[in-house]
Amino acid sequence: MTLDARVYSLFKEKFSREAQYIARAPGRVNLLGEHVDYNDGFVLPAAIDRATYLAFGPSESEVTTLWAADFGQKAVFSAETLAAKTQPDGSPLPDWAFYPAGVMWALTEAGLKTPPLQAVFASDVPRGSGLSSSASVELAFAVAWQQLGGWNVDPMRLAQLGQRAENGYVGVNCGIMDQFASACGVENRLLRLDCRSLTWETVALPAEVAIVVADTTVRRKLTSGEYNRRREACELAVRLLGESLPGIRALRDVSPEDFNRLAAQLPLEARLRARHVVEEIERTRLAQSLLEHGDVASFGALINTCHASLRDFYEVSCPELDVMTTVAQSLPGCWGARLTGAGFGGCTVNLVAREAAQEFSRALAAGYESRTGFHPDIYICQASRGAGLLG
Ligand code: ADP
Ligand code: MG
Repeated sequence: MTLDARVYSLFKEKFSREAQYIARAPGRVNLLGEHVDYNDGFVLPAAIDRATYLAFGPSESEVTTLWAADFGQKAVFSAETLAAKTQPDGSPLPDWAFYPAGVMWALTEAGLKTPPLQAVFASDVPRGSGLSSSASVELAFAVAWQQLGGWNVDPMRLAQLGQRAENGYVGVNCGIMDQFASACGVENRLLRLDCRSLTWETVALPAEVAIVVADTTVRRKLTSGEYNRRREACELAVRLLGESLPGIRALRDVSPEDFNRLAAQLPLEARLRARHVVEEIERTRLAQSLLEHGDVASFGALINTCHASLRDFYEVSCPELDVMTTVAQSLPGCWGARLTGAGFGGCTVNLVAREAAQEFSRALAAGYESRTGFHPDIYICQASRGAGLLG
């Protein structure tokens, strides 16, 4: 059974009536521009054809009742219980319910109507592996409340509201990329977002290219301590480089030439972190024109360089991610492979010749398993459309 059919039939089972609508919001994979969103850089993600599906209808009472089909759990909340993060019976909200409750909170804060709803949701975006299952949940609920609330905002605004939910209610200090890609995805196209101005455009993904995502199944998440340390190193680099380059606001404003000239002024850790960011932003600038000219091989080479930079300069790789990329880069039909997402586990993204994608996936799984003992999950992905109601 497809996931949309599954949530539809579960809704009937749980609420003894038909769901009125089904919302779908995809996960995302980032091809280039890693750890640059908080440095005002550019990112190149695509929404993927794995998504959260949400069957919903208005509630007849004051409370919102949700079933998370993937956990077999129910949660209940209302406008009155939102601030306390509890259910009407006083019990705490389960962790997963922070995402939908956070969306209700963020929408309410923005003055948008969030009528109570009944809903069942399920997802085939793997959780916690760097494909942004959390943004897909948030955007599915944002779409649902937009429909029942009778208001309409553009997809970027919807993404910002999802980010606000995650920052302000769930308490995760994420950038805008995940929610942006889930909200704004376009079939067969990469998205290019300027994280400073929030302007974006799309770039065609050449037809001969498949995006293959490989999940190491290792989850050593970048802890918030490690993440904050890297953000601080970037901020320190901006402050110190600013003594020679007055007016810079972020590493986005530092050219590779200026960086190379001034790098010796930075302490080692800040120098390594900033080198990754400055060069990664330059790679995303180059990628744009390479893709416009259909130069997949050179784009793939940038992806390979990005992995080396994340491993050696930003230091967010791990042995399993290094094995997965090394095996991939040795296989026929692979133009580029790198870790994607925050790092320390999770997934790699691979740019592969479409005709070779099946064989590549098989050989990658076998190579990875023989070297690590872990059985990976491999997904051949399509760039898909962003969040919306199913017709
Ligand atoms: P990711 O990189 O996948 O976004 P996060 O840690 O940001 O990882 O978000 C994962 C969390 O999002 C899960 O722990 C859960 O609380 C919530 N979530 C994701 N998918 C689902 C789902 N299918 N059902 C319920 N909650 C989900
Ligand atoms: Mg997330």
